[in-house]
Amino acid sequence: MTYEQFIGNIENFDANYSKDITPTHYFGFPIAPLLEAEHRLMAPKEKSVAYFSMEYGLAPSIYNSFNPGKPVSEKNKFYNHEVFSNYWLSDYVFKINIDKMLDIPIYSGGLGVLAGDTVKSISDLGISVCALGILWNKGYFKQNFWYKHGQVPEELYWDPHTYPGLVPLKNRVVMKTKEGDLTLRLWKYYVYSYDKKHVVPLVLLDSNLPENNEHFKCLTDQLYRSDAVSWRIFQRSILGIGGMKAVENLKLNVNTYHLNEGHAAFALVEKYISLKDKTKFEVEKKKFVYTCHTPVAAGHDRFGIHDIENIFPDDYVDAMKKFGKETAASDNVNLTHICLDNCRHTNAVAQKHGEIMRLQFPEFAKDIDAITNGIHLHTWLSASFADLFDKYSKTFGDWRRNNENLANVMQLASDPAFRKDLFDAHQVNKRSFFNVIKPWKLEEDVLTLCWARRITGYKRPSLLFHRIEEVLDLAYKVGPLQIIFAGKSHPNDNIGAAHIQDILTHIDRLNEHYKVIKVLILENYDTYFGKLLTNSVDVWLNNPLPPFEASGTSGMKAILNGVVQMSTLDGWVVEAEKDNVGWIFGYEHHGNEIGSESDLRLDADSAALVKTLKEATTMYYQMNKGGTIDIHNPWIDKMINCIRRAAFFNTQRMVEEYRKKMWS
Ligand SMILES: *Cc1c(COP(=O)(O)O)cnc(C)c1O
Repeated sequence: MTYEQFIGNIENFDANYSKDITPTHYFGFPIAPLLEAEHRLMAPKEKSVAYFSMEYGLAPSIYNSFNPGKPVSEKNKFYNHEVFSNYWLSDYVFKINIDKMLDIPIYSGGLGVLAGDTVKSISDLGISVCALGILWNKGYFKQNFWYKHGQVPEELYWDPHTYPGLVPLKNRVVMKTKEGDLTLRLWKYYVYSYDKKHVVPLVLLDSNLPENNEHFKCLTDQLYRSDAVSWRIFQRSILGIGGMKAVENLKLNVNTYHLNEGHAAFALVEKYISLKDKTKFEVEKKKFVYTCHTPVAAGHDRFGIHDIENIFPDDYVDAMKKFGKETAASDNVNLTHICLDNCRHTNAVAQKHGEIMRLQFPEFAKDIDAITNGIHLHTWLSASFADLFDKYSKTFGDWRRNNENLANVMQLASDPAFRKDLFDAHQVNKRSFFNVIKPWKLEEDVLTLCWARRITGYKRPSLLFHRIEEVLDLAYKVGPLQIIFAGKSHPNDNIGAAHIQDILTHIDRLNEHYKVIKVLILENYDTYFGKLLTNSVDVWLNNPLPPFEASGTSGMKAILNGVVQMSTLDGWVVEAEKDNVGWIFGYEHHGNEIGSESDLRLDADSAALVKTLKEATTMYYQMNKGGTIDIHNPWIDKMINCIRRAAFFNTQRMVEEYRKKMWS
């Protein structure tokens, strides 16, 4: 694509973008790789991939921030991070004050961050891929904690028209519905590689247009809006059907369609509808591959045929029934079923999840593979650890390009100078986080744990409070603790909301003990805090009920920065069980029964957690005696083992596996 063709497609180019987009630069980054990427996507000889995902967590506030000519608009900044703690004195007086850009709010949590990390590694590897998603005009939601009321969700506002790196195109695609035509505008965002030599274009669909009726305008407002089933159906059809129409409209030459999660299943339906000769579908469907991300029943979308009939024209309804009914008698359309039944290849996101998926879908068992998730090293690595790897570059070589080099850390395992540098690099991160939450006076030589992720039942957010008297006893007798919580709960997840309420109440009651145990919960967990927290605490706590965590990725961000794990045996952790990256505790899942996600096993697992916490606290205070460090302590070995495993749990390795097993 030429520069002129590129800017010719942008809406209001002269008025809004001519300063930031020039023949040499795109928002401060070189434009040549962007034009090259667009060109490759249209070239017949390239075997390009279209990657569909409902959400993308791209985290530009912490990685590859564009450099716009003018300061980022206030509408695209975000400051709302109040803290609720048992150190009351601080809560009433201070707020966290960070001047930061709002990360493009088109994600809710782990799935989106994984998609973002995947796209970044695709870009690093120079693979020809176009990503497709939705421009969420009101993001996910803004979280407020109201004591006694828990989480109160509010709408989030941002301004796509001034968001650095994002441009509206003149292109439109139209979907037929029973309510009339639904028009979608296409936007583009560009994901650069770490060395700025490659780019992955991200196409975002948007229904907020004057030509749409009032209902249609709101369809792309809020990610995972679910107060009526029609929202969910419309959002999924915009991704699948609208996404396929966008591929066509942009004349992309696509060889493989990758459906990241079942949300995009209707892409298969659109492919079928678009064929004049329906017998060709047997060949065409072989171009589709599917990644499934959840073993939790609610994670698989099922829609009543009646609801589908209210929305789609008859030919679409017929195709949805043809592909999505589990049995002839069923009156549901199951999106997972559409994918499993048609895609050439399906993968689960960790080896354990593969096992569980084969139990859940025995009729497809032989087609289900597992490719373990990862994280994008350049996004999640702290500066102090990058410096450390550079300092020991004889050992780590070009680790930026070859992430697997991190495994060479074992050569340094008994080098006292390295062990000291490693611990020091960690303390740098810990101090810089504590500086952000300065009024709460956290101490760098006190053992600090963090639990931060989506707040929902099976992740058991308040497990640590289940035996809080025992935790308190431990803090008085073995050594003090600092514990940070963060996470959002989907606005319609009542159990999640109850957990937030429970955490707030417990924190409040711990007020008189703040000298030995400080507990903080941060509002609006996002990718910015995801990085800050995973980089800097001593222990990353992860206690889902096995086997319901498909993979989990926040722990991978932590191990990359030498943060040890305290985890139940589930998801990716199963593949690090023997690597001594920390402590594994609690219920283990074995055998052919999946079990129930509401049988939370809180009594037994909280006892196991307290026991493990006692061991960890003992070891920590043997290592760190008020700032005097015993660098021979086994804690440091655990940190080293973490880095060794980060050589595997990254999206560079994962995307290479996708390329070999899914896309070729
Ligand atoms: C990494 C990340 C997640 C995913 O965490 P899990 O441990 O997989 O649940 C969720 N939210 C944010 C903001 C993240 O950065």
